[in-house]
Amino acid sequence: MDIYSLALQAAQAIDADELVRLTQELVRRPSYFPGPGEEPVVDFLEPYLRAQGFSTTVQAVAPGRPNLIADLGQGPGGLILEGHTDVVTHGNLNQWTFPPYEARILDGRIYGRGACDMKGGLAAAICAAVAVRKVLGEPKKTLRLCIPCDEEGLMTGIKAFVRAGYAEGFAGAIICEPEENQVCLWQKGALRIWVQFQGKMTHGAMPYAGANPIPSASRFVVALGELQKALQAESQHEYLGLPWVTPTVFAAGAGEGQFNVIPDQVRVGIDIRTNPGQDHRALEARLRQALEESLEAGVGATLEVFEERPATETSRDTALVRAVEQGLQLLQMPLCYGGVPGATDGTFLWAWAGLPT
Ligand SMILES: [Zn+2]
Repeated sequence: MDIYSLALQAAQAIDADELVRLTQELVRRPSYFPGPGEEPVVDFLEPYLRAQGFSTTVQAVAPGRPNLIADLGQGPGGLILEGHTDVVTHGNLNQWTFPPYEARILDGRIYGRGACDMKGGLAAAICAAVAVRKVLGEPKKTLRLCIPCDEEGLMTGIKAFVRAGYAEGFAGAIICEPEENQVCLWQKGALRIWVQFQGKMTHGAMPYAGANPIPSASRFVVALGELQKALQAESQHEYLGLPWVTPTVFAAGAGEGQFNVIPDQVRVGIDIRTNPGQDHRALEARLRQALEESLEAGVGATLEVFEERPATETSRDTALVRAVEQGLQLLQMPLCYGGVPGATDGTFLWAWAGLPT
């Protein structure tokens, strides 16, 4: 039997009822952090996957925050299907139409925190792997489910996964994030930065006795707008759009913000989003230059890049992308390319492990 008939058979072997049930089971286990964390989901999934014939490994990343790795078959050159287990917080419970962890079905939709991002995608990856096994038996190359923690935070789960060598020897990875079935070959890069301005505290009635860091910090924030304009003139991506330089935190004030005291510190947080080809070191140098030029006498500043995610770009000319394109064709689904405006765990599978994603 040729590969196309087998693939169609595998698609038909997907248990749609189980896919819905499994998604509900996952949504019903809250896994936000800080909070219950990902352990409840892993405690449920690990025996579930073992019963389906997967060999499983639980990788401890932090207390209460495990990665789950589940394999079918054993051999180099295989495929990773990825789905993170954490969700963002439910926020204000009163604003939910249905309780966030009930996973209620209405008009063919599952409502709940993580139904979309991405317990639905994780359940889809699991049911797809189970269906492949039903039709093909044990695959000759490893089909690995990578189920990491902490995607919504600092991505410590996928970083630990790559560092431990679990991504080695694979031909590529499919990140099952909700992107409306677009083939997303590009992801934006990101820089997260703290800038700490240091002045000298004094009474508001005697400003000459201190050094107010607020005007310097304000000038710097205005300069960020100019930098953004310049970056946008340099780069516009067909699928990712424009780069962005966004101040997200501006914290100043002595104590609880005492009105008649000039504070000694201002903290500015900057969220930067870049396109492929924009060099992060060069960008950092421009930021430092702008910072230098913003400082008034008596005010100092430090700039710290505390998180960095490169922009990614997977070539259309890889076996993984061709296989995905053929799969969509086979299922008579439209082939649409897309870009991911944020970062995903695929960022580090691409940048650190060198995998097409
Ligand atoms: Zn996600």
